Amino acid sequence: MLRNFSLNKWQQDWDSDDTGRAIFNILPEVTLTPASWSRESILFATGHGPFPRYLYRFRLHPSDICTCGAKGDPLHYATSCHMTLSYHFTKPSAENIQLWWKSLLSNKLSRINTAKLICFLSEKENLIKQPGRNQFIRLRSRFLSFTKTSDLWTKTLQFNS
Ligand SMILES: [Zn+2]
Repeated sequence: MLRNFSLNKWQQDWDSDDTGRAIFNILPEVTLTPASWSRESILFATGHGPFPRYLYRFRLHPSDICTCGAKGDPLHYATSCHMTLSYHFTKPSAENIQLWWKSLLSNKLSRINTAKLICFLSEKENLIKQPGRNQFIRLRSRFLSFTKTSDLWTKTLQFNS
């Protein structure tokens, strides 16, 4: 029941989503077991994974931009982000994008590589997410308390010398 509900919700999201349109034509129906793909391949293909762009859509992250400054979607991490260099595929031209997805998803080796990329992104989440405002404030106060401490140190050292 709950599983059906989630699948329906996912299908609705998938139908109305503006990301992953190239894949929509290859994989129009969401299912938990499509064509022996791994979970990671599905997350990558649908864009419904640890990507700033997706997390931002569901207010799980304050921005859809990667820390490098570009839009944080699957294509970005698979072809151009410098943090995922070792997982890169050749970047497709705009007119070949659908063909690119099709060949990537029908090739077992490429699917294994995208699965590794997804694992990497899930593990290094903080690396790809821009710090949100709260995080920024926290970092700032940590920095300020650090500078205060070092001021104190400088004074102590001057006093002692
Ligand atoms: Zn990036």
